[in-house]
Amino acid sequence: MSHIFPRHTKALPPVAVAGEGCYLIDAEGRRYFDGSGGAAVSCLGHGDTDVIAAIKAQVERLAFAHTGFFTSEPAEALADKLIAHAPGDLDRVYLVSGGSEAMEAALKLARQYFLEIGEPQRRHFIARRQSYHGNTLGALATGGNEWRRAQFAPMLIDVAHVSPCYPYRGKEPGESDAAYADRLAAELEAEIERLGPETVIAFVAEPVVGATAGAVVPVPGYFRRIREICNRHGILLILDEVMCGMGRTGTLFACEQEGVTPDITAVAKGLGGGYQPIGAMLCTRAIYEAIAAGSGFFQHGHTYMGHPVAAAAGLAVLTKLTDGGLVARAAEMGARFGAALEEAFGEHPHVGEVRGRGLFRALELVADRETKAPFEPGLGLAARIKREAFARGLICYPMSGTIDGRRGDHVLLAPPFIITEEQIGEVIGKLADALEASLPH
Ligand code: PMP
Repeated sequence: MSHIFPRHTKALPPVAVAGEGCYLIDAEGRRYFDGSGGAAVSCLGHGDTDVIAAIKAQVERLAFAHTGFFTSEPAEALADKLIAHAPGDLDRVYLVSGGSEAMEAALKLARQYFLEIGEPQRRHFIARRQSYHGNTLGALATGGNEWRRAQFAPMLIDVAHVSPCYPYRGKEPGESDAAYADRLAAELEAEIERLGPETVIAFVAEPVVGATAGAVVPVPGYFRRIREICNRHGILLILDEVMCGMGRTGTLFACEQEGVTPDITAVAKGLGGGYQPIGAMLCTRAIYEAIAAGSGFFQHGHTYMGHPVAAAAGLAVLTKLTDGGLVARAAEMGARFGAALEEAFGEHPHVGEVRGRGLFRALELVADRETKAPFEPGLGLAARIKREAFARGLICYPMSGTIDGRRGDHVLLAPPFIITEEQIGEVIGKLADALEASLPH
């Protein structure tokens, strides 16, 4: 009998035993195409020999040195390389073990920054209703993902939530992108005024939304309007790139395509590519210097932060993404993948929208394309698609969610950047079959 505590206790998953390129193999020898990279993690695919060699070399040299006493060579090198490729005046890197930890650090650093500069009255965060920022309590409170929050609601800090930039369902008929961006920006500003601008710490958002609704790309100019408003009120902009960052959308940081730079950002998933658990929070020089010139101590920390072996893996992954040209490949294969999805599903009677950027793509499924009416929740569509795809050897990331009382079903796709043209065909063929088997007739 197994003693594993699985995610779903009523349906025990198969045992994964090996990974080869874009495929995972289970104990019975079945092969699965990793069409979502787990959850946008496996950017290099499985079994990358360069990353494996970097991990082996590091673990033999130095496995662990506590950050209360030391920094380490791979941590220093990874921080330097991240900053060399980071936009704006992001200048310092705080290494942790995953996305939720990176977001917790971001929230706490933002609060401490204002204490250091003598603005202790700042205590509110504003985020968006369509968002996921992690499962630890602070990150969970910041996210708007209703079903994940529901049972912990009494334990969550009070975070204000505004409308997401969700053009498919949020834009009024006939409304231009610019007018939509203005309307959302005005809503944020009204919320800031309501709370009192001098009490707000930061606005928090994912540049391209991941786990709540699937690869939702903002309208052009939206983030520039948001950045202006934050600047006007002295509020920090925290961008969560845990899922959309590290080249997934075709640039190393997703915000590069929005023409804005955050004060603090979080990355994880693709940073370790699944080879090691690692995340990072990056902040501007101004924020770092406020701490350095003030208390000199960021009141936070975890035992495994800056772990040398994780950092060595992150450095090897980042080197392949940048010097190895894999971000460029994500952009190129992403454009092909997007076009192939559009061709296969663009006219599908139950696909309301094919969207995304780079190798971060999604389908939004609807009962009726004209009215955009979603399927009945009782159908359990996301679970059906996941099951049908898995049975056909495809791992994809279907989800159902409710935003502003409107339900939606989505399938997120985030394959490894090494995906080939032929494999794009394989993903689409299997997904089409899984949809056919899952959708009501
Ligand atoms: N932020 C975003 C945008 C995410 O997608 C996730 C994970 N899905 C997290 C934070 C949390 O990351 P982790 O699961 O590594 O803690």
